[in-house]
Amino acid sequence: MTELQKLYRLQQVDLQAEQLQKELKTLPVIAAFQQLQNETAAAKKTVTETENRLKDCEKLIKHLEFDLQQIEAEQKDIQAELYGGSGHKAKELASLEKKAGKLGREKAELEEKLLSAMETKEALEQALPEAWEKYKKLHAELLALHKSGNEKIHELKSRLAGLQAEREALTAQISENLLAEYKKRRAQYQGKPLARIENDICSGCRVVISFTVKRSLQQFPGNTYCENCGRLLVPSE
Ligand SMILES: [Zn+2]
Repeated sequence: MTELQKLYRLQQVDLQAEQLQKELKTLPVIAAFQQLQNETAAAKKTVTETENRLKDCEKLIKHLEFDLQQIEAEQKDIQAELYGGSGHKAKELASLEKKAGKLGREKAELEEKLLSAMETKEALEQALPEAWEKYKKLHAELLALHKSGNEKIHELKSRLAGLQAEREALTAQISENLLAEYKKRRAQYQGKPLARIENDICSGCRVVISFTVKRSLQQFPGNTYCENCGRLLVPSE
C-alpha cells in the first residue's frame, strides 16, 4: 500500500468510526432504557408517596382517637353533673345541657372524620403492596435491559477500539503534510476529501479524469486534485 492508499484507508476508517459513534448515540436500547428508567422512578415515587400518606393517615387517626377520648371524658363529667343530683339551678342545668349538646355534635363530627380516615388507611394499605410489586417488576426489567444493552454497547465499543488501533497504525505511516491536508479538507467534503480513480472516473464526483490529471497523479502523488470536485486523488490499487 502506498502512503496515499494508506491515507485513503484512513478516510474509510474514520467514516466507519463516525458511523459507529452515531449508532452508539442513537441505539434503540438507550431510548428504551431511558423510558423504563422514568417508569421505574415514577413507580418508586408512588411507593414513597403511598407510604407517606399512610403514615400521615395513621397520625391523623391517633389524633382523632385522642380527641374523641377527651370528649368522652368531658361527656362523662357533664352526665355526672346533670344526673348526680347535686342540686343545680335551672339556669345551670340549661347551660350544662347546652354544653352536652355541643359535645355530642363535636363527637359525631369526630367519629365521621375517624371513619373516613380509617377507610383511607385501608385503601392505602391495599394499594401499598401493589405499588411495591409494580416497582419491583419494573426494576427487574430495568436491570435485565441494562445488561443486554451493555452487551450491545460493549460490542460497538470494541469495534470502535479496533478501528482506533488501525487508525493509529495508519497515521504512524503517513507523513504529517498529507495528514494535515486530509484533516484540513475533511469538513469541506463531509469526511471524504479523498477520491479514488476507478476506470478513469473520480469516485468523488463521477466525472471522467483527463489524461493530464492522470499523468500528474503518477508524477505528483499526494498533490493531484480532481479538476471537477477538487478532491485529492488516489490511484486505484
Ligand atoms: Zn472529482
